[in-house]
Amino acid sequence: MSDTSPIDCSKVRFAIAAVTEASQLVRRVQREMVVRTLAKDDKSPVTVADFAAQALIGKRLEETFPEMGFVGEENSEALQSAEGRKTLKQITEILQSYLPGATEDEVCQWIDRGAGEPTDNFWTLDPVDGTKGFLRGDQYAVALAYLRKGEVRVGALGCPELAAGVRPEKGTAGSLLVARRTNGTFVRSLDDSLSGEQALWQRLRVSECAEITDARLMRSVEKSHTNTGGLGQLVARLGITANPVPMDSQAKYAVLAAGGGEVNLRLLSTTQPDYREKIWDQAAGSIIVEEAGGRISDLNGKPLDFSQGRTLANNRGILATNGHLHGDLLDGLKKIGA
Ligand code: AMP
Ligand code: MG
Repeated sequence: MSDTSPIDCSKVRFAIAAVTEASQLVRRVQREMVVRTLAKDDKSPVTVADFAAQALIGKRLEETFPEMGFVGEENSEALQSAEGRKTLKQITEILQSYLPGATEDEVCQWIDRGAGEPTDNFWTLDPVDGTKGFLRGDQYAVALAYLRKGEVRVGALGCPELAAGVRPEKGTAGSLLVARRTNGTFVRSLDDSLSGEQALWQRLRVSECAEITDARLMRSVEKSHTNTGGLGQLVARLGITANPVPMDSQAKYAVLAAGGGEVNLRLLSTTQPDYREKIWDQAAGSIIVEEAGGRISDLNGKPLDFSQGRTLANNRGILATNGHLHGDLLDGLKKIGA
């Protein structure tokens, strides 16, 4: 076990390189495309970034771990229509600067490596988690995790808009977080060298706050992804003084791991009470929190069960905390009937 560097296994090394490269690609697409399309309410930059990042990581996995499974959020079906073919052309052109000579067919093939079902030994990817944040210029994340026999073993989050893993400050180099089971959670600047070998890593620890009234909560920006009314009731019931901070994507888990907040809650929305979390929305973030000393469960306190296919079918919502406040939050949730 290392206190100063997380890089001591091939999967961690892969996760660092793949997420760094994909984060740089996504950030480049944002710089080049978002500004000129924002006024038209055009979602195409996020589509291009999403597919290109999944294709890039699909290809890198094929090169490095060809025997392992891959479960990604996207598949290439949407790229087969006339409109989709135009997007595919853009994706392919961008990828050619990372993978010289890449063809449209190859790009679809790399994306579709991620269309499979989870196995005993696989990677899961959300290429752009927090798509609305990406379009707004707020938080988003490239989230990659390795799972063995239903357990998350390695997780990496690329957060291009997150300063030092703690404060959501704009215009910085961004943060890369990585965690390996039993080995801790580490952060470094996303601008450090791709190899990561010489990069300066900082170990992260959750906040020591044990006073429920002082808890700093985070929630989705998208109201349809949570229940803001329920959240208000919970905050009042527990006497929490600060208002919940809205933030997109698994960047919330990075902030929690770094001690910049104590609680991340995903209450079930009233419009979709049967919603079940996707594994790529929780796998990387969950190990980042746990290895920094925090705790994650569903709203009933049940451990997250990653052995149920592409969703957390056995879990309702999510509660992630610094550990100290988990019990208080579970009691509060029971009291408001969440
Ligand atoms: P956030 O930015 O925290 O809202 O998380 C974004 C993720 O929420 C997306 O990647 C979606 O997969 C996921 N999502 C979509 N619909 C819902 C829903 N009804 N409840 C919770 N999460 C959702
Ligand atoms: Mg997502």
